[in-house]
Amino acid sequence: MVRTKIFSVAILLLAAGALAVVIPAVDLSMGGGMPAALAQDGLEPAGVVKSRTGVAPNRLRYYPGTEPLGADEIRLVALGTGMPLARRSQAATCWLIELGNGDKFLFDIGTGAMANFTAQMIPFDFVTKIFLTHLHTDHWGDLASLWAGGWTAGRTVPLEIWGPSGAREDMGTKYAVEHFLKAYNWDLQTRLANLNSKPGKIIVHEFDYKAENKIVYQENGVTIRSWPAIHAGDGSVSFALYWKGMKIVIGGDTMPNTWYIKYAMDADIAIHEAFMTPELLVKLYNQAPETAIGVGTYVHTSPQAFGKVMSTIKPRHAIAYHFFNEADTLPTMTAAIRETYDGPLTMAEDNLVWNITKDDIRVRTSVPDDEAWSVQGPRKPPKPDRTVPDQLTKWSLEHRWNDIDAVQGDMIKAFKKKYNLKDSKK
Ligand SMILES: [Zn+2]
Ligand SMILES: [Zn+2]
Repeated sequence: MVRTKIFSVAILLLAAGALAVVIPAVDLSMGGGMPAALAQDGLEPAGVVKSRTGVAPNRLRYYPGTEPLGADEIRLVALGTGMPLARRSQAATCWLIELGNGDKFLFDIGTGAMANFTAQMIPFDFVTKIFLTHLHTDHWGDLASLWAGGWTAGRTVPLEIWGPSGAREDMGTKYAVEHFLKAYNWDLQTRLANLNSKPGKIIVHEFDYKAENKIVYQENGVTIRSWPAIHAGDGSVSFALYWKGMKIVIGGDTMPNTWYIKYAMDADIAIHEAFMTPELLVKLYNQAPETAIGVGTYVHTSPQAFGKVMSTIKPRHAIAYHFFNEADTLPTMTAAIRETYDGPLTMAEDNLVWNITKDDIRVRTSVPDDEAWSVQGPRKPPKPDRTVPDQLTKWSLEHRWNDIDAVQGDMIKAFKKKYNLKDSKK
């Protein structure tokens, strides 16, 4: 089922009265413009194929890795929009923001999101800055995959994580990452014995979760501010990214709160959770009614409350996420939001892409490659420095089956000759 529809402004105006009946997953109320760089290249939708060997200007979908980004343009990609329950169609929370100056940031990295990241075909070296709203697994559970996956597949530099402190030391980001590495110590030590150590490092920038609209990052014309969220326990935050006069707000998980109302005001893009209704949580998510009412309206934000938040802060475009988005839920969720908000809205699903400029916001589905590989950037994959000794002891190696030397010896010899690996012991 293809839910994204591209509307012209005229069609939208005509259809506005019918929205209550036929509710599209994506309201392109901001108009059907195109990424600025594509407009310059003549690759806009409905462009003309000028020769028999020409290229069709099909940009109704986003094909990762094929489109330039305009100098004043932002690309936002939903790499995960779902729930703690893993499923193939929706990973847990992860947002990729790409700026026209080349900067790229991840906001949250929930379980399952890295498969969608790989399909964006961006070199690992370009995406090393991660901002965590809080430490639920559906918001950082795939750090393991980015960390170890990128380490084995060409990243040359450490990861950097910005995240909130906690009400206690053991509830903060620094503690979490330190103990993440301890939990994965077998992984860490065995890779250090075989790979370059630098890409395996994680640098943590922990900031005060109580900071109100304070700058937590400022570099290269990009400013990122944080303010507290109210979610399950103290220590959850929201972020706003400012660049070239535009403002993208990433709400994280939260009940509606006065900080968001104050600091997300006038955002170009305002992302905020809209949790499934308590009824949907009971019917489809197997929660007890006693659990569902608390989870759906106290730990999280109901769709009606999401709408009230958006009609108050009036963003150029609102994005609702953190619900399983499918035929069975979408009409209920959209109708609930439309009780309190009639502005521009996307009901998020994985692999949607927003192109944002001062004049235009466009949303499309992307066409992810299920068999994408990691993509090399300008730097070559680093050589191993083997900062710890081989973690295989004599006890194991005495049982190596040496008969394999006869069958793979020639292949190893040819490889070492080709790559001039004189001293390589392994
Ligand atoms: Zn959470
Ligand atoms: Zn969550």
